[in-house]
Amino acid sequence: MNHRLFKPYIIIVIEESNLFNFRSFVNLLNQFNLNFVISPDPESAIFHAEYSNPDLILIPFDANKANPQETHQKLKQAKITQNVPLLWMNHYSAMNNPKPQSLETTLNTLNSLINLNNLEAKPLPDITIKTLKKQLEFQQELLIKLQAENQQLKRLASLDDLTQVANRRQFYTYLQAQWQSCAGEYLSMILCDVDFFKFYNDTYGHLAGDYCLQRIANSIETAVKRVRESKPYLVARYGGEEFAVILPHVDVETARQIAEEIQLEIRSMQIHHDSSPISSFITNSSGAACAIPGDQSHIQELISAADKAMYSAKFQGRDQVQVAPTMIE
Ligand code: GH3
Ligand code: MG
Ligand code: MG
Repeated sequence: MNHRLFKPYIIIVIEESNLFNFRSFVNLLNQFNLNFVISPDPESAIFHAEYSNPDLILIPFDANKANPQETHQKLKQAKITQNVPLLWMNHYSAMNNPKPQSLETTLNTLNSLINLNNLEAKPLPDITIKTLKKQLEFQQELLIKLQAENQQLKRLASLDDLTQVANRRQFYTYLQAQWQSCAGEYLSMILCDVDFFKFYNDTYGHLAGDYCLQRIANSIETAVKRVRESKPYLVARYGGEEFAVILPHVDVETARQIAEEIQLEIRSMQIHHDSSPISSFITNSSGAACAIPGDQSHIQELISAADKAMYSAKFQGRDQVQVAPTMIE
């Protein structure tokens, strides 16, 4: 054990009135720069232990004055201190201590000064490396746990609760990032809106509506993933029954094809929609738009172009894809 690498942190529980008897011992600790704190009673020792995670608690006692058993008992009962090694020490041996020459000698002296359970000689436990290892292991475990929790929180903060695709916040974050990295290149967007979804809710109930939205989100994700494979994209819930797909490095014609794939995927689920005026199954209308991000263009123009194209699809009878007529540059 290398004492120079790690200094044990010691709490000394000693009444103020008894301090005088242990002055030479405290001087000794001071002289060798040991980490210690003096607590006047077990309660303050417990309080201190919570913040300092001590390696050792010393209970010096004067046979005429203190009752070390009582202190010992209180510290053993407290959750914070019950596993910290507790050592008793009487003031006679402390005062007779010869001056040590090194930290190693100090610890050896400490060792010889300490009597466990009423003056029975007991070597100092090898607490330093063990404690250090334990602390390290604990901190590593904690770090891994925190990183996992952090990732989970980030994931939750960016997902839509109901459909588990990206939420609107993530939509904007991703779009802004892509707007920067696609400068001078194509960046496309599709907006999809479920047709006559109010009627669907009215007919089948809100819960059925929720389930339907989950299935639609899932089928949009499936369709886009199939086409894009490992290339980047984002499917997000843009609003109530409206979804958005962001497609970096995709031109308007490819965006239209992807939107058609989405139409097919949604139709192929054959979700009954008896109150739809245009079909017996759930359908959707999509608008696609493309931009080449640059100094003169703005993100909002891309969104509103896709939105206009989507409304044009609605206006022209729904269940179809429309593409914004001009590219935003
Ligand atoms: P259109 O074809 O013109 O888009 O008609 P629509 O009925 O789909 O459009 P409208 O905007 O009139 O209605 C949208 C409906 O979507 C109304 C709203 O209750 C429903 N909706 C929005 N969010 C949710 C949701 O989270 N769950 C359910 N079940 N319904 C939702
Ligand atoms: Mg809508
Ligand atoms: Mg709708």
